[in-house]
Amino acid sequence: MKKEESKKLSEFSLIERIKEFFPNNRDIVKGIGDDCAVIKVGREYYLYTIDNMVEGVHFDISIGMDYSSIGYKAVVRAISDIVAMGGTPHFILISLLMPKGFAKKNFSLLSEGFREAVKQHNLSLIGGDISSSKILTITISAIGRMTSKPVFRSGAKKGDDIYYTGYLGFPRAGLEILKRGIKDKKLNIYIETFLRPTIRTDFGKELTKRGLANSMIDISDGFLGDLSHILEESKVGAILNNRGFDRELFKDLRKYFSEKEIDDFIFNGGDEYELIFTAEEEKSSKIFQLAKKYNIPLHKVGKITEEGLFLIKDSKKIKIIPHSFEHTI
Ligand code: ADP
Ligand code: MG
Repeated sequence: MKKEESKKLSEFSLIERIKEFFPNNRDIVKGIGDDCAVIKVGREYYLYTIDNMVEGVHFDISIGMDYSSIGYKAVVRAISDIVAMGGTPHFILISLLMPKGFAKKNFSLLSEGFREAVKQHNLSLIGGDISSSKILTITISAIGRMTSKPVFRSGAKKGDDIYYTGYLGFPRAGLEILKRGIKDKKLNIYIETFLRPTIRTDFGKELTKRGLANSMIDISDGFLGDLSHILEESKVGAILNNRGFDRELFKDLRKYFSEKEIDDFIFNGGDEYELIFTAEEEKSSKIFQLAKKYNIPLHKVGKITEEGLFLIKDSKKIKIIPHSFEHTI
């Protein structure tokens, strides 16, 4: 990513260019621009996605990340995009580019991580590719299916409530704890969320099947960055309430990080793989019941508006200029 930045080509401007070069074919329900590409076969929707994990960009062994967590996380990151549309992940293909002399033991650990994720999420590994490269690169392609209509980033409507699942900022805090070499058992929860993210498959599926959400995305670039993708695709704005972002959960971190840093973890952290979705106001009680059924922390944090992005803090309305997080360890 650093190289891309120096050439003034951000990930998102590159995607925009590709999108212009390859406009959607009419057989495609959704092409470039959402969490997955969607193709309809008979009555069923097939969801396709692909994700890279590159050494030095998405993971770093030297800060204390272990190979089995890297394998596990690579799979979860890939299937998270299927969950973000309300689908069920079924199949994965794994491409492995390994440095020459990559230790057998490390390969076994990596594979153990793949296997753990495959088992836990009921997936089938149906293929892949192996070659060598200077740096370890794991690319995972995932395929999902669903019969109800997928939820797109583009469906948010003025007046919708904005929700997110789980806790924001935990994985980014985990990464910073590892990078700074902080040793404190109380902080293990943050590291664990960074190494082994939770995804909300059953909740996302039922939310979609029951037509409760108008738009949805998974958080990979940070809450504000990913909410902005919904806003852009839906051509709407949002107003957020600062009180919806719980800082109490970060009390053990205050010894090591400033309030400003913690706020940055929450709003721009990334790597969460939790869901952001929007829904009509009258669906609120059904949505909270569903979250309770699956035992999922759920937060309602704002409203979809006509345009702009604002945060209400101490009764003040602050304009937010979102910047999307680009991965660099
Ligand atoms: P996510 O964070 O959900 O994985 P990305 O930000 O990586 O999504 O990608 C956004 C959209 O751009 C997706 O629809 C993705 O398929 C598409 N995209 C990303 N890179 C490319 C590429 N090299 N060629 C075509 N489409 C791409
Ligand atoms: Mg995504």
